[in-house]
Amino acid sequence: MKKVHVFNAGPCALPQVAIDNAIEALKNFSGTGVSLISISHRTKEWDAVMDECRALWRELLHIPDTHEVIFLGGGASLQFLYVAMNFLEKKAAYLDTGVWAHKALKEAQGIGEAYAIACSKDENYTYIPKGFDIPTDIDYLHITTNNTIYGTEIHEDMDCPVPLIADMSSDIMSRPVDVSKYDLIYGGAQKNVGPAGVIFAIIRKDALGRVSRYIPTMLDYRTHIDKLSMFNTPPVFNIFVMNETLKWVKSLGGVDAMYKLNKEKAALLYGEIDRNSMFVGTARKEDRSLMNVCFVMAPGKEDLQDEFFAFAKERGMVGIKGHRSVGGFRASLYNACPLEDVQALVACMQEFEALKK
Ligand SMILES: *Cc1c(COP(=O)(O)O)cnc(C)c1O
Repeated sequence: MKKVHVFNAGPCALPQVAIDNAIEALKNFSGTGVSLISISHRTKEWDAVMDECRALWRELLHIPDTHEVIFLGGGASLQFLYVAMNFLEKKAAYLDTGVWAHKALKEAQGIGEAYAIACSKDENYTYIPKGFDIPTDIDYLHITTNNTIYGTEIHEDMDCPVPLIADMSSDIMSRPVDVSKYDLIYGGAQKNVGPAGVIFAIIRKDALGRVSRYIPTMLDYRTHIDKLSMFNTPPVFNIFVMNETLKWVKSLGGVDAMYKLNKEKAALLYGEIDRNSMFVGTARKEDRSLMNVCFVMAPGKEDLQDEFFAFAKERGMVGIKGHRSVGGFRASLYNACPLEDVQALVACMQEFEALKK
């Protein structure tokens, strides 16, 4: 097989060891002789996976006792509804930093009063709005810490006078997070911690039960906290691969080690974008994402775009097409993307420049 470098935005590259162990478990799960996708989820072997996965989340992110972590189906998009159902009583504010943030807001508006506290749509979401006042009479502020499509990121855990809720779909486990600053952190696994089909939610337990509406059983976070994410059949395959991925993160030194490597990878690629006369970055420099690096052809070079795609493809680059709402290129440098892949992309950009100059 040809050597490929996978920069997909999600589903994305996962550690090879997680994939290999999943293949083995599909044939014979935990020495039972039964496939992972045929086992009963009410067995001690499966309980062990759930327990290990929960423990790894707690350990890797230093989740305090005040918070619980659960795993569910439905995608991050369904979490937009969960958030409003479980936390919106009178009014909520959303920081509108992109398509996903906007969808979260829209979903909340179907449940109650929700508004954009600040918005960066005026410049096609290429920056993170700053300096806005947060009123204290709102139920929560919702933020999207990494904007997967536009390549912008909120780099610090902000101090917030009201409960803070964050969609961390595409930067969870990429940097240390002070979980105690959030009432809820959620996201889809498929950007950095596993395959599509499972979400994680880290919830401050005493923040629940404060809304007066009826919450359907499946949409009530308390149901899933009480039943340890096993109220109904959990997505066993997805949780298994997530657990393997987290074991791999731990084996490399945990989230601190990931963060160090992620900074190195991003600095290498942004450095090349800024140096190379063929390309320019699209996100404002101070808000550049460590995970999704967005760039386009430099002014006057636009007609070379298709040629660069073909050139990069020939050299094994996979998944560098930008989202249709931004155009150009996007390289996603999630945890499982090795430094060597970024080096290969940088070399490819340099070769292209030398050829065209
Ligand atoms: C991908 C993504 C989503 C949507 O995830 P689904 O699991 O496909 O619903 C939501 N928020 C962010 C930040 C994302 O990157």
